[in-house]
Amino acid sequence: MNDRDEILVRIRDLSVTYHTRLGPVSAVDHVSFDIRRGEILGLVGESGCGKSTLGKALLRMIAPPAEITGGQILFEGEDILTFDERRLRDFRGRKASMIFQDPMTSLNPVQRVEDHLVEAVEVHEQKVDRANVLERVATLIERLGIQKRRIHDYPHQLSGGMRQRVMIGLGLVLNANLIIADEATTSLDVIVEAKLVDQLREIRDQYGVSILVITHNIALVAEIADRVAVMYAGHLVEMGSVYQIFDHPLHPYTRGLLRSVPSIKLDDQEELYKMAGEPPNLTHPPSGCRFHPRCPDRMGLCSQSQPQLREVAPGHWVQCWLYQDHPEKESPTLEVTE
Ligand code: SF4
Repeated sequence: MNDRDEILVRIRDLSVTYHTRLGPVSAVDHVSFDIRRGEILGLVGESGCGKSTLGKALLRMIAPPAEITGGQILFEGEDILTFDERRLRDFRGRKASMIFQDPMTSLNPVQRVEDHLVEAVEVHEQKVDRANVLERVATLIERLGIQKRRIHDYPHQLSGGMRQRVMIGLGLVLNANLIIADEATTSLDVIVEAKLVDQLREIRDQYGVSILVITHNIALVAEIADRVAVMYAGHLVEMGSVYQIFDHPLHPYTRGLLRSVPSIKLDDQEELYKMAGEPPNLTHPPSGCRFHPRCPDRMGLCSQSQPQLREVAPGHWVQCWLYQDHPEKESPTLEVTE
């Protein structure tokens, strides 16, 4: 078996609910998927679709008024939802880490780069030899493309791209197996973003780490990901290899997302496609398929009954009645070409 076929994280039936004054909002609703060891998985969807909530749930960083209301997150076979505080702290540093859009909110402005990294090791490892750790930190920083001397800098002295790499380093210094990058390139300019994307790929190749890239930028995912998961209104609606999603998108929402990406080939006269309608209010989600009020392919059945996520070709999953049989269905199942 290839390393990349091995499952690192199994998410099963995961639900996260926000308790608001207007009622419960099911931001993540019975979502199941796997993250393979050493893969880059892109998680995409519009703002408010639940992708960042899902990312935080993977590290159990969900705080009131939100709550994980069901499911399992099996990391190397162990359900992190059962961990006590001590095990959770250890898991967050040594096994998985997260980088956010603005690294300044995670880095301590009065601590040098070196202090951040050394402290991460000292908190999580026992009997630490400081000289040894300093050498480890300096080597890591160089491998991340930052000059060794910059480890004496404070976060504000670094560029945005360097700060993101320091955040990645905080996970790698402890040999984390999973890095979750939540809109990590959004605040960077395109040149720095392209460099960071290259580096994420190099890091995956060198360290064999799995990377979950959460973004609304579908073009970024096309460049970096091995597989792609598409979320809509708290549901996982399609998942497959980057080729399956970009060359043979099946779910009408995925097709709409791809058509909405500006292309340099776009004719002057041609208007950019705009998906009809707005994402739903999740205090009162639409009945049946949550996408039905906006879907150009909807059938009568779609507003009455919710389709399940089904594997329609090897590794290609879709949650849509177009690809599933139902006695009340008005049109025949479409043929899937891979
Ligand atoms: Fe559209 Fe129906 Fe498929 Fe939903 S189930 S995406 S409404 S065709």
